Amino acid sequence: MKTSTNCPACTGKLALWHGIWAGTPFRMTCPHCRARLRIDLPWLVPVFWALVVGFAALGVGIGYLAASGRFVPVVYMGIGMVIAWLVLELVGGVILYTYASFTILYPKTPGETKDT
Ligand SMILES: [Zn+2]
Repeated sequence: MKTSTNCPACTGKLALWHGIWAGTPFRMTCPHCRARLRIDLPWLVPVFWALVVGFAALGVGIGYLAASGRFVPVVYMGIGMVIAWLVLELVGGVILYTYASFTILYPKTPGETKDT
């Protein structure tokens, strides 16, 4: 298990939080050289959408509880969801850095590391 990996463009260290704040598990930008990286993992797409659907269903459930006036459990569920999401991001980041392959989308040629 790896909690960091090296940028294929500049070999700079990519830590877990760089992936967390990327916003999408499919692309990320190297914080060192600004290279755009594609993250390749065959089963990532179905797993990602399953999680999105799962969280959407949870959100609907929380909305239903809020509509019925049960606000205390809603607060706890909200906190639980945030914690669950952070854990998922961390676990997902470790899985990505361990199993996924990173390919350079931009720049196409090494050395062309100008910020866009
Ligand atoms: Zn880099």
